[in-house]
Amino acid sequence: MNAQEYFDQGELVAVLTAQPLDRTLDYKAPEGGCFLGAFVEVPLGPRKVLGVVWGPGQGGFDLAKARSVIRVLEVAPMREEMRVFLGKVADYTLTPMPAMLRLATRAPGLGDPPSMRKIYRLGDGVPDRMTDARTRVLEVLRDFGGLAFTLKELAEQAGVTSSVVKGLVKQGAVREEDSPRDLPYPHLDPDLPGKELTEDQTAAVDRLQQGIRTGDYGTTLLKGVTGSGKTEVYLEAVAETLRMGRQALVLLPEIALTAEFLTRVEARFGARPAEWHSGATMTERRRVWRMVGQGDAQLVVGARSALFLPFRDLGLVVVDEEHDTSYKQEDGVHYSARDMAVLRSAICGARVVLASATPSLESWANAEAGKYERLDLTARFGAAVLPEMKPIDMRAEQMQPGTWISPSLRQAVRQRIEKGEQSLLFINRRGYAPVTLCRACGEQIACDHCDARMVEHRFLKRLMCHQCGETKPMPETCPSCGVEGKLAPVGPGIERLAEEAEATFPEAKIAMLSSDLFGSARALKAKIEEIAEGDADIVIGTQLVAKGHNFPKLTLVGVIDADLSLHGADLRAAERTFQLMRQVAGRAGRADKPGQALLQTFQPEHPVIRAILSGDEEGFWKAEAAGRQAAGVPPYGRMAGIVLSGPEVGPVFDIGNAMARNDAPLRQIDAQVFGPAPAPIARIRGRHRVRLLVKAPKGAPIQDAIARWIAPLRLKGDIRLTVDIDPQSFY
Ligand code: ADP
Ligand code: ZN
Repeated sequence: MNAQEYFDQGELVAVLTAQPLDRTLDYKAPEGGCFLGAFVEVPLGPRKVLGVVWGPGQGGFDLAKARSVIRVLEVAPMREEMRVFLGKVADYTLTPMPAMLRLATRAPGLGDPPSMRKIYRLGDGVPDRMTDARTRVLEVLRDFGGLAFTLKELAEQAGVTSSVVKGLVKQGAVREEDSPRDLPYPHLDPDLPGKELTEDQTAAVDRLQQGIRTGDYGTTLLKGVTGSGKTEVYLEAVAETLRMGRQALVLLPEIALTAEFLTRVEARFGARPAEWHSGATMTERRRVWRMVGQGDAQLVVGARSALFLPFRDLGLVVVDEEHDTSYKQEDGVHYSARDMAVLRSAICGARVVLASATPSLESWANAEAGKYERLDLTARFGAAVLPEMKPIDMRAEQMQPGTWISPSLRQAVRQRIEKGEQSLLFINRRGYAPVTLCRACGEQIACDHCDARMVEHRFLKRLMCHQCGETKPMPETCPSCGVEGKLAPVGPGIERLAEEAEATFPEAKIAMLSSDLFGSARALKAKIEEIAEGDADIVIGTQLVAKGHNFPKLTLVGVIDADLSLHGADLRAAERTFQLMRQVAGRAGRADKPGQALLQTFQPEHPVIRAILSGDEEGFWKAEAAGRQAAGVPPYGRMAGIVLSGPEVGPVFDIGNAMARNDAPLRQIDAQVFGPAPAPIARIRGRHRVRLLVKAPKGAPIQDAIARWIAPLRLKGDIRLTVDIDPQSFY
């Protein structure tokens, strides 16, 4: 055994813990020694904490004083690939290693020994009588298709006491079993027959499978309109990866989507894959973490943090809807799961597939530059064709005050209702009205803690701050001038639009889809299924509907305010509008009926609106790329956002000003610093926020410069600094 990889009992080892320290700690290897990368429990002061053996100890102190590792956990040691990956992500995002380790060990009870426990499944018995509580328990068990729960989890999921479950056990309707913790996942069979692919799809699959067989790193941008069969294609890439005996990871942006996807995986491979997301139970997360590490989970479907699971042999990462902003984590470790997927794959020799109908400019540019391979699926599968897209010029429409559905759009919706088809009215604003104005004094009701206006939510009968989530009851009188009965909503949100639709189309069945209207991902999923089956004439939705759901009866999309996201300080505003509108339009006409998309706009001649309407994507990307190249902004330059925050605005600005003055490390790499300026949202949860933006030439070592720039800072009191490399949102 190589001395570097194994430490004998008593030898000094350096242990990385998740404690906020800036270094590893030395311990003596325990009885029986330990491997490099071993997960261990070590004493720290009076506590026991989890750590990973990171290398030989540093020494330099009295060896007699060194404490011993308490024990080695019964999980696979962290692989070298993972240690290198965590180190590189730490360097890239300027994150301390302990925070990286936390990200990589987000499963509870890792230290628990394997043991037996009681689990609960659906039984064959029929209860003597049904109650609501009993029905809920059985529903949960049915919904999760054969998954077993612990007593606590089952009771929690169903919202009942454990005695309800016990009662059902007595009746045989629920089965209680002894089971070893953390069972391997059922085997996925890549050789079950797949769908017969079109010529286009076959060509793409061949390319991807060839790449996979090399066993080397490579990234492919898989571009194709919604419904062109990207999912079918990348499932065949998964199949080839499994045939090679390697593991695959599919990242999805939205939990609500996973149900449909899991069913497709089951149809293709004969069993369900491992799932990793915030909605999964603790037991399930622990099982995924362990099974991934020992190679007993071939495929994981998950949210962005699944990228930090300890795969034994990761051979493929698919990032579906790669342009989606939810891949960027914006608290804790600021990382882009899409970019880090590429990084991890380059380290472990895996393939990456970035799938999207509307790729990010970053990925488009990487494909143009030849760094990524690009595969295009041009046609929609089957008879479905892309919808016809037309503007509705709002300057020419006769609008009643306080209404947002133009006569032209009204007529189009009416036609669909008559034909028994569905329409979608899209508005990307939750709540009833974005602004509540006092008609007596002009005051707009704002959040007490944030620099944001409160949004009226009639459904909840409250005002809500979309920054901090603070709510308060709708006041009767103006909080500023005290006049009664003068508060009025200004502008539309989804709830107000639904009200207008109900008044305009009294005969129609209307369904609202917005993330805040459903108590759980399960309720949302049920609603989406209902709509897909045709149980609505008009769907009113926020951007939630833009994400890949299948509504076969939908033939009309009306975009209420196509101009809404065109404006804003965000350098990606045009790109986002383009993607969002294309995605929404892609909802129409997926089955055999052709669709139409109507965009209400006051600026039909705006370049972005024109590009959307003409469908000239390459033209749009080229123009956008040229603009960003000229401005030296990403992806043609590098940026970082530094946000300082604190309870008092003065001291926060003082530090910002001092940083701007002492910018030598930045100037050495030809970087510029802008600010300090109040962040676009200048106050959140009572904390004042000040932002500096760093802009550097492409290829400049921006992390190193920023690290040297902030190293001398001593932040006093409650002031915090966060660094966001490649910021996506500018708030
Ligand atoms: P995308 O991921 O590009 O939106 P999907 O892979 O979801 O497209 O395909 C859209 C629909 O067409 C799905 O219902 C899918 O099952 C179906 N489909 C795609 N390709 C085929 C094929 N070759 N044979 C049968 N059905 C297909
Ligand atoms: Zn607030």
